[in-house]
Amino acid sequence: MRSSQFVKNLMMWRGKNNLDFCFPWRNAGDPYKVLIAEILLKKTTRKQVANQWFKFIKKYPDFNALKNAKTASLLKVLRPLGLEHVRAKQLKRLASVIVSEFSGKIPSDQDKLLSLPGVGRYSANAVLSFIFNYDISMIDANTARVLQRVFGLKSKKKRPRADNAWWTFAESLPPKGKGKEFNYGILDFASEICTAKNPKCSICPMSKICSYYKHLAS
Ligand code: SF4
Repeated sequence: MRSSQFVKNLMMWRGKNNLDFCFPWRNAGDPYKVLIAEILLKKTTRKQVANQWFKFIKKYPDFNALKNAKTASLLKVLRPLGLEHVRAKQLKRLASVIVSEFSGKIPSDQDKLLSLPGVGRYSANAVLSFIFNYDISMIDANTARVLQRVFGLKSKKKRPRADNAWWTFAESLPPKGKGKEFNYGILDFASEICTAKNPKCSICPMSKICSYYKHLAS
């Protein structure tokens, strides 16, 4: 079956191409640091965030520090990423809610996560996967591209990552007990191999099962 072969190939690729060292938050071992990275990563690239994340964490090491941050000062760290007032306010509100309603601890419940300012389905599932080790999927523009190309998925939605059917399909993919590895693997695979422009099909482990490649070759 194509999905099981996809998972097998992806996990093998991840085994040989572990890029965690490029993204320091992956091994930070601190839920706060992981969540901040996920928020900074919205509409920015992972390479851009890597530098700025260190500065952010140094200046605001926990939710209390972030809650009490001066907006002007916070903007100095956010602006190099192209993030402005809206994101600064959102981060401060997020910190306030976590401090006041969750005793400073990130909840491990999806509904509670979705109730947090600035946390949507992708970020909530990222927290559940990367912090709490749930075998759960995440779909962003990059993972959506991989799924669309390999499986030939179609959607009537303008942004397929908002399509519930895609989420349902994606939920079936992460192997038991290895959801975090799977999710890091597909994110890295999307940025290194199945890139938006000029995908590296000639060296891709998915080429034999990929709808897009089959179409290209025919
Ligand atoms: Fe992407 Fe090409 Fe690989 Fe298909 S064969 S998954 S399009 S890189």
